[in-house]
Amino acid sequence: MITREEVAQLVSRYDLGRLAIGTLGSHSALGIFRGAREEGLRTVCVCRERDLIVYKKFPLADELIVVEDFSELLEERVQERLRELNAVLVPHGSFTAYLSVDDLLNRLYVPMFGNRRLLEWEVDREKQAEWLRRAGLRLPRSFKRPEDASGLVIAKLPGARGGRGYFLASSPEDFYRKAGEMASRGLISRDDVERIQIQEYVLGANVYFHYFSSIIDGEVEFLGADRRYESIVDSLGRVPAPEQLKLGLSPTYTVVGNIPVVLRESLLPEVLRMGDGVQRVARELAPPGIIGPFCLEAVITDSLEIYVFEISARIVAGMNVWIDTSPYTYLKYGEGMWAGRRIAREVRRAVELGRLEEVVY
Ligand code: AMP
Ligand code: AMP
Repeated sequence: MITREEVAQLVSRYDLGRLAIGTLGSHSALGIFRGAREEGLRTVCVCRERDLIVYKKFPLADELIVVEDFSELLEERVQERLRELNAVLVPHGSFTAYLSVDDLLNRLYVPMFGNRRLLEWEVDREKQAEWLRRAGLRLPRSFKRPEDASGLVIAKLPGARGGRGYFLASSPEDFYRKAGEMASRGLISRDDVERIQIQEYVLGANVYFHYFSSIIDGEVEFLGADRRYESIVDSLGRVPAPEQLKLGLSPTYTVVGNIPVVLRESLLPEVLRMGDGVQRVARELAPPGIIGPFCLEAVITDSLEIYVFEISARIVAGMNVWIDTSPYTYLKYGEGMWAGRRIAREVRRAVELGRLEEVVY
């Protein structure tokens, strides 16, 4: 595994007067680049040929490194160019979607804004649950076997991303029937059935909370919240129940976009404490804990209990809804502030204070 010292070595050779913020051209890249510009930093985009139109119509990248496929980020040619450009990479969802954790931990010799060691805690569902529980959060109950559950459960395949391969089950029989169906259609293997995570389905409003953990200020800030707009689940309500039954419709969760959420103010004390708790534990797990943005994915019930079912320890695409400001960042900063700009500001201030090695890994 690449060590923190090795990354500190890499930045020690950087020309800090010409520092650049780099990322893969997708997901939340535009907001990251605009934020870097706003803070006076240069930008570099690793872009797939077929997506070039985006970075031509939104000309925010000072440098483009064109690739066929994002996996080329691992090639020495690309990494060397990034280091030549004094780039600090900002990881987002496409890094984990198109590269493996092993690649990110062992083969990416470019400084990243963030803490790579937390990836190990994030990708393992059990470790993640331990982290969140120790932070004092309320989690949906998990069950070893469908027989242990009562009521509706959501079954999650190991490693499933973006809700692909999730299904709901209302009884053990229903669970085995659906898992069996998926196995016989080749969507999952028999082994997968053993490893499906079975979770209490929490009925309520979905909210994704956005935070920023500043190492320079030693503080966790609340940036905003969003909800997802998902196909098919968000359109089921448009099909009356009798037709749903006839068609055997079941929800899938493919994200097509995000919708801003502004919270009822009485939820804020708990939401703010949740962010602090997560960073307190993260600091113990992998010092200095989360560096930069992170997101808690939650369901809020009608008695206003907040259940957290997942954490992403990096910028998430839902944060795009708050370019150029959210009510919360405006309240704090009195000017436009969003995840991308907040990242660039942290990097800029770290450089000014001679502390850049504290915010990269
Ligand atoms: P993409 O580069 O669009 O394939 O996305 C990479 C990863 O980020 C996938 O796992 C997506 O599920 C996730 N993702 C992309 N866009 C969004 C979005 N707008 N909201 C939530 N998640 C997203
Ligand atoms: P994700 O893992 O973020 O892609 O989740 C896919 C969808 O499943 C989202 O709409 C979540 O809100 C929903 N979801 C995940 N876990 C639960 C749960 N325990 N209870 C209710 N909804 C859930």
